[in-house]
Order: sequence, then C-alpha cells, then structure tokens
Amino acid sequence: MAEDCLFCKIIKGEIPSAKVYEDEEIFAFKDINPQAPVHIVIIPKKHIESLSGAEINDAEVLGRLQLAAAKIAAQLGGLENGYRLVNNCGHDAGQTVFHIHYHLLGGRILGWPPG
Ligand code: AMP
Ligand code: ZN
Repeated sequence: MAEDCLFCKIIKGEIPSAKVYEDEEIFAFKDINPQAPVHIVIIPKKHIESLSGAEINDAEVLGRLQLAAAKIAAQLGGLENGYRLVNNCGHDAGQTVFHIHYHLLGGRILGWPPG
C-alpha cells in the first residue's frame, strides 16, 4: 500500500467505489469517467506503479489480472461480442494514476487504432 495512492485508498475503502470484483489479490470497480458502456478498472492489491515498474516476482499477479478481466467480462452483461483490455503505461500513453491497472472496455464497437 502507498499512502498517497488513490487506488490504494479505494482498495482500503477510504474512497468509495462501485466494486464489481474482489479476491485475495485483485480489486475491480467501475470507472468514474466511463469511455464505453462497460468500463471497469482492474487493479492488483499490491501497489505497483506501472507496467514498467513490475518485476519478475509480479508475474503471477499480472497473469491473475488478465484472468480476472476475463472472469469479470464473462459475468457482466454486454460483453458477449467482445471487449478490450488496455494498460496505459506512462505519461505518453495517458497514465494518470500510478498504480498499475487494466481498463476493461466494451459494450460498443471499439475503434482501432486507439487515440
Ligand atoms: P489512466 O488514465 O490509465 O491512469 O486511468 C485512470 C482511470 O481511473 C481513469 O479512467 C479515471 O477515470 C479513473 N478514476 C480516477 N479516479 C477514480 C475514482 N475515484 N473511481 C473510479 N475511477 C476513477
Ligand atoms: Zn497504490
């Protein structure tokens, strides 16, 4: 846990969120500013700043994040025809919260390439 991290505070319940999934290592909640009809933020409970900050001993939790995304996608309505899993890493990619997270997006046709 990092003291001044927004997502660590969400995990601890210090900041409210619309939780959609939780297990021992993973937490997921609705994005406050959704970019698609379904927009979920999926995070590890361990504070890792970004994908570039991940280390070899984070390999398992990174895999679990993706498997959690697939599980959440299967459980939520509206993603039967597909979805996108996005990680913004660093400033140029638009990362604004420096606690690694995946965006699970869907419920509409998603354009490619992304902006
Ligand atoms: P990124 O820009 O990739 O770092 O993504 C951060 C995401 O967190 C953005 O999509 C924000 O809308 C979302 N976000 C920021 N604060 C909150 C919050 N309190 N609850 C839910 N989502 C949030
Ligand atoms: Zn954090």
